[in-house]
Amino acid sequence: KVPPYKVPLADDYYVKKNTTSPQGRRANATVVMLARNGDINGVTSSIKQLEDRWNNKFHYPYVFLNDEEFTQEFKDRVKTITESEVYFGLIPRDHWNQPEWIDEEKATKAREDMVKNNVIYGGSVPYRNMCRYNSGFFYRHELMQQFKYYWRVEPDIKFFCDIDYDPFLVMQDQNKVYGFTISLYEYEATIPTLWKTVKEFTTKHPELVTEGNAMSFISDDGGSTYNRCHFWSNFEIADMDLWRGEAYMKFFNFLDENGGFYYERWGDAPVHSLGAALFAKKEQIHFFNDIGYRHEPFQHCPQGNAHKKGKCYCDPKQNFDREWYSCLNRYDKMFF
Ligand code: GDP
Ligand code: MN
Repeated sequence: KVPPYKVPLADDYYVKKNTTSPQGRRANATVVMLARNGDINGVTSSIKQLEDRWNNKFHYPYVFLNDEEFTQEFKDRVKTITESEVYFGLIPRDHWNQPEWIDEEKATKAREDMVKNNVIYGGSVPYRNMCRYNSGFFYRHELMQQFKYYWRVEPDIKFFCDIDYDPFLVMQDQNKVYGFTISLYEYEATIPTLWKTVKEFTTKHPELVTEGNAMSFISDDGGSTYNRCHFWSNFEIADMDLWRGEAYMKFFNFLDENGGFYYERWGDAPVHSLGAALFAKKEQIHFFNDIGYRHEPFQHCPQGNAHKKGKCYCDPKQNFDREWYSCLNRYDKMFF
């Protein structure tokens, strides 16, 4: 005997799922998220939205990466909300931990100073490991080798609109290599010597800098100083060949050897952004204007037709694009 609500509804009451992309083709791509076991509620929240607004129409796989083993509970809860392939990967220790050649005394001192100056995450080693990992290692993880494009997501983000097309195909068909939704200024205190280091690199390797690049997004004076503009890397849709190529790999290794990931607190957002701006053509950097997105405390809410077309639920007035702290004007200006 079971109560009536436990009697299953007949199959033919259920909507048939649309399981093919309109073009009938897919890119070689995956969604990727770095997460801790404790992030699970934020993880399922993000993935559920991505599924409902987009991936239930496309079925791209997911890769989850962690510096510790994922728990069975984590895996089960993620697998419950998607029919896509899901991979769970452990990050090798030597890709994650602070390298042994870092001067620990100097690094400790730097962290203490940043705590005194109230720099966000200034005292954290794991946060620095995470930034370095996202800058130079995630695309080298064995689970990522099979893919070319990725969409980076984080726990507790919001997608406001239906995404009724395949952004990976846009990247592929239009030869884009880096896509973003929000751009802004970096905190000076986290990157005091980053630009100096970047310039050392470009002076040493002028041949690696791409012609027609996005220098005017990152510098207002032709490359003498960094204006601190960067793409907010908690959202990225990008081509890993950009990171895997000779230019960025040499660039990353040069930055890494400098030690600034630990002696300062270089973020993966400025590092990726500087890499994209120097080693891609400006036309290859794409603003996903129609993807309504929030990561605390900022959001991009599509305006006008895009808002309508995506059936977005965000308030169009709450939009970071033209706020004083946004760098989108500089992005636009590159194409004037
Ligand atoms: P914020 O967005 O800069 O405030 O930083 P988050 O705390 O959101 O971290 C960025 C991303 O890295 C998120 O996807 C986190 O889940 C992940 N992350 C941060 N620290 C760690 C860590 O120590 N281990 C693992 N496995 N993931 C981390
Ligand atoms: Mn975050």
